[in-house]
Amino acid sequence: MHYLGSMTDHSKKYFLNYLSGYWNDLISLWYPNLCASCNRNLVGNEQIICTHCKAALPLTSFHKIPGNAVEKVFWGKINFERASALLYFNKKGITQQLIHKLKYKGRTDIGEWLGRLIGHELIGTYPFCDANYIVPVPLHHSKLRSRGYNQTDLLCNGMAEVLQIPIERRLLRRVRKNETQTHKSRLERWRNVDELFECHPNGITENPRFLLVDDVITTGATLEACALALYDSFPGARINFVCGAFAHY
Ligand SMILES: [Zn+2]
Repeated sequence: MHYLGSMTDHSKKYFLNYLSGYWNDLISLWYPNLCASCNRNLVGNEQIICTHCKAALPLTSFHKIPGNAVEKVFWGKINFERASALLYFNKKGITQQLIHKLKYKGRTDIGEWLGRLIGHELIGTYPFCDANYIVPVPLHHSKLRSRGYNQTDLLCNGMAEVLQIPIERRLLRRVRKNETQTHKSRLERWRNVDELFECHPNGITENPRFLLVDDVITTGATLEACALALYDSFPGARINFVCGAFAHY
């Protein structure tokens, strides 16, 4: 408290906010039976978040809306069938809490739970539900090593469980510019990004329908780069984009 006494009001507020955020993260790791958003005790059949927070989830329902905001991100850039995201990403909202814990706090259970929610939304929604393969946007292997898991893989696990569609994890590989064997013109096209994707067809020969999955979509550049890599190997492929959250501006 002596330390706090020597701080300005602004730094005190920042410091206390920092402590409380850190504390909440620790609580959530020690007690996964607390709501991952508001830290209330989970009761009955509640999973990950409490009934109150679940009712407040900012669902987009984009899977029911052709021409939705996620699809507009890709218009004029790349061919695709449909695109959707489960949640709106609002700063300091429930989605941010969930994604933060999923990506940086080891809460792998949140990823599979979100994936199951996506799966339940997409059941019976064509063309999403009759894809041949679910394909996660891969992490670069160095990031996979440091994080220990790919959060998008976890979303895919949950989706695959509900939709009963196989996951194809070895198809796409994320490479840094200096590692890639991709043709130079593609390098030129993607000169603004540090990482690129390579597709290894992996024995798939038909014209597949892919569900290409990422955790959060912002500019769409990552998914677009993945789709281009897929089209390189499968010119007749049909691609649908599915994300956990849509960060709109
Ligand atoms: Zn809650």
